[in-house]
Amino acid sequence: MKLLEGKTAIITGAGRGIGQAIAKKFAEEGANLALTDLFISEDAEKFAEELNKTGIKVKYYKSDASNFEDCHTTIENILKDFDRIDILVNNAGITRDTLLMRMTEDMWDAVINVNLKSAFNMTKAVLKTMMKQRIGSIVNMSSVVGVSGNAGQANYSASKAGMIGLTKSTAKELGARNIRCNAIAPGFIETEMTAKLSEEVKTQWKKVIPLRRGGTPEDVANVTAFLGSDLSAYVSGQVINVCGGMNT
Ligand code: NAP
Repeated sequence: MKLLEGKTAIITGAGRGIGQAIAKKFAEEGANLALTDLFISEDAEKFAEELNKTGIKVKYYKSDASNFEDCHTTIENILKDFDRIDILVNNAGITRDTLLMRMTEDMWDAVINVNLKSAFNMTKAVLKTMMKQRIGSIVNMSSVVGVSGNAGQANYSASKAGMIGLTKSTAKELGARNIRCNAIAPGFIETEMTAKLSEEVKTQWKKVIPLRRGGTPEDVANVTAFLGSDLSAYVSGQVINVCGGMNT
């Protein structure tokens, strides 16, 4: 039997990057997938079409994870198409990097809303279903800079530190209902998000990574599959670094 067979998973920000790699891994492991993204590209539609051919059910939903109402409507729509929700991966995220001196209120609000409020929105929206089922696994995408902080990323680091607090509180509040909640803290992962960093910054990052390479989206997807699956049935309230051994 495959690791996630019979489970239904929701992944936010699944149109590309880490979210799409998680969708691919979950599909390989037999999960049915409700994938959300702000914009659904043609590539994403093709990706879902291909996965549907493998015998699992996969559907994309256009949804703004930072918008409370939108998240609730999306979950209502997902529940019309799927009869249960076993796993929620709060993956959607953005950066608006600059030094505090130059950071505008809009840059702060956008990052906090997309990276942190989104997880509150989606968790609230799936809770009733998971509580009724008496089983659920929520995985929140944090970051190593949520623990260490990072110059030029005050908004991003704060949002990712918030994800850790949310994760630990959710785990404590919902453990009695057999709902687990864990966070993943990726280090430097090679996606469109990090592609926009300067070569100098990328080289600096790689120098401090003991494994001497950037991570791949698949490196993060593998750990997410473990946390979504029953293999991690006694793991909750934890932050797992996927960072090539970097100190945080
Ligand atoms: P990415 O390539 O930029 O992908 C981010 C995804 O989030 C995109 O599909 C994007 O959709 C979606 N998204 C943005 N705003 C959204 C919203 N309001 N509602 C729904 N979806 C939205 O980033 P990534 O590198 O894969 O990052 C995925 C997660 O891992 C993020 O939370 C990020 O902070 C975290 N992370 C990444 C790294 C890294 O090194 N890459 C390290 C630590 C943590 P559109 O394409 O429609 O814009």
